[in-house]
Parts: sequence; structure tokens; C-alpha cells
Amino acid sequence: MRSLDLFAAEKLDQLEARKLRRDLVETARIDVPTVTRNGRRLISFSCNDYLGLSQHPDVKRAAAAAIETYGAGAGASRLVTGNHPLHAELEARLAVLKETAAACVFGSGYLANIGVLCVLAGPDDLVVIDELAHACLNTGAQLSRARVARFRHNDIGHAAELLDAHRRAHRHALIVTETVFSMDGDLAPVTDLADLAAAHDAWLVTDDAHGFGVVPHARPSAPIQMGTLSKALGSYGGYVCASAPVIDLVATRARSLIYSTALPPASVAAALAALDVIAAYPALRRAPLGKARRFTERLGLPPARSPIVPLVLGTPEAALAASQKLADAGFLVTAIRPPTVPEGTARLRFAFSAAHSDEDVERLAEAVGGLFASASERVLCPASS
Ligand SMILES: *Cc1c(COP(=O)(O)O)cnc(C)c1O
Repeated sequence: MRSLDLFAAEKLDQLEARKLRRDLVETARIDVPTVTRNGRRLISFSCNDYLGLSQHPDVKRAAAAAIETYGAGAGASRLVTGNHPLHAELEARLAVLKETAAACVFGSGYLANIGVLCVLAGPDDLVVIDELAHACLNTGAQLSRARVARFRHNDIGHAAELLDAHRRAHRHALIVTETVFSMDGDLAPVTDLADLAAAHDAWLVTDDAHGFGVVPHARPSAPIQMGTLSKALGSYGGYVCASAPVIDLVATRARSLIYSTALPPASVAAALAALDVIAAYPALRRAPLGKARRFTERLGLPPARSPIVPLVLGTPEAALAASQKLADAGFLVTAIRPPTVPEGTARLRFAFSAAHSDEDVERLAEAVGGLFASASERVLCPASS
């Protein structure tokens, strides 16, 4: 197998030379918002646990109780024997929150996106997708074998042009976007996209992974709304909400649901408990955006639109160096590099959580401000403006 190892080693060398190699760094999350990495405690601004619910006592207790009742694993795919009673309860709750008739829970958000897009689109169809949409939306679009047309980020006019040019030659058309963009923190013009979809007989799919539970104005207005249980809900798993016939079709056809083991009961129970916490403490939901705004205000940046604030630095080297300096100052802010973001837009991505104290945010702002004492280093921010 010498050729195999050689292949892998050469690939890694090439990535290393471009500063694009990624490594798994052991990181213990024992409380929020701190992590322990290489023996040091850092305040994390890189977790998507926006409400700190992964560590909430009620959520942990619910997960433990579900393990006691149902065991550690689901045992099979949901269509075989893995559809334990908590699934229906969670789906009913999600459908109410998204104002749809039904919902379907998947093993992860990634699995939900590839499953749903492949059910709704095929080789005769058109998928018009925002150029900054998440990797799994792109993978789903490609796996569907539909014609994929990318529109410039949040550019309704460009999306309309693509539909004008290609809609007629295709059976069905999907418009795909995120509600809150995962690496930029800006919001999609969902209402305008819904109007565009209506005008072109297209189906709008929104991915609310980073909006759910933290961006109240990301209102449901798409017939197909997906999301994840792994961010603000602090658990694991994905979901899609839609009408009853669409969900029935998804449940009977989505390969990533049919051929993959169901979520462990603990994950479903944790998500349910997290929904209870969110419902009981509405102020919690507003906290992450409030922290992000405090940070942007403190640094004279455009006001945050969501709990995600990008600081685009350009090269992977610049992003890695800035990340290292912040780590030296006690903060975990992972450098985000291509292909997660477009070439030339490597960045720091700050994710704010209800678990951060105002003092954490102040100290971070001071450290970030210090990085750019020579302000010319800061290329542009936010990425999309
Ligand atoms: C994280 C994320 C996903 C994937 O969700 P997982 O549950 O982590 O697999 C999908 N879409 C977007 C926009 C995301 O940020």
C-alpha cells in the first residue's frame, strides 16, 4: 500500500504548503463558554452553542433520562425499528415552531440537506442556489443531478436572471439559501426570495441552522425549512419542516434517512428539553445578538445582524496568525479558510453566545482591537459588504 500512503502524504504536503491543512485538536468542553485545549483554558468564540444549552442542567438531565429509558443507541434506521416515541414529539414541536403541517428529524443537518434536496430535485430540474450556501446544500444539489446555477450572494436580481434564462427548460426549480449565513452572519432576503419563487413557480428551501432560536426576525416563509438541533439547541441531529405530503415523501424517499441509523434517544430528548428552556426564557434568545452588537459597536464595525461576526483577513496565513495571537490572549477563535469560505477571504469568525459575560466580550474586543493597531491590516468587514 505504499502508493496509497504516498498519495495521502503528497496531498497533505500540498495543503500544508498553502496553509490549508486542517488538524483535529483535542478540545474539552466542560462548561460554557470555556474550553480546554493543550492544557489551557480558553474562552471560546468558535462554538455554535449560541445559548449554552449543550451544558444546561435540564438538557443534560433529559438526555441522561432518555438513555435510562431507551438505551444509548437507536438500534436501526427510523423506518425499521429506530423510530422511538420521542421522535414524533420533537417533530410535532418543530412543526409548530416553523408554522408547517409536519416535520421530519434526520441524523444531522448535513444528512437532512442531502436527503431533502435529492428527493425534491432530479436530472430534469433546476437548483438556483446562493453562492455562499453551506457545503451540504451544495453537495445535496450536486447529488440530485439537477442543473445547479449559483447566484451572487443575496443578489435577487441575479437569481431572477438565472431563473429567466433556465427555468423554462426544466421541470421543477428550487431556490436554495440560508436564513443566516454561517460564515458571514448576514441574513438572506427571504421574503424577496419567496416572491421570486412564486413568480417562477419555484420552491424555496431555507436552511435556518444559524437562525433558529437566536435570530427572531428570520421568520418562516419558505415551504421547505430545514435546520439543525446541533447549534442553538445544543444537541445533535437535523430536521426539515414542510407540508404533510412533502414530509411523507421525504420520509419514504430520502436515502440519508432510510439507510442511516436514527438519532440516539438522548439527542432527541436533549433537543426537546432545549426547546422547553428556550420557551421558558425568551430573553435568552436575544442575548447572543446583544453580545455580538456590543462587540461590533466596541470595534466600530457595522452592527452585527446575527450572533456571527466575520473579520476577513484575506490569506490563510493572516487568519492563522490572528487566531494564534488571540489564543495567546486566552480566546479560541478558529481561523476559517478556503474551501469553507471563498479564496482570498480567510477570516476570523466570532460566534457570540448567551453564555459570554459582557466582560468576556469587552476583553475580546480589546484583544482584537490590539491585533489591528496598524489598522491597514484589516481588509474588510463584514465579508459581504
Ligand atoms: C452546521 C450547518 C449544517 C449542518 O448541520 P449539522 O447538524 O451540523 O450536520 C447545515 N447547514 C448550515 C448552514 C450549517 O451551518
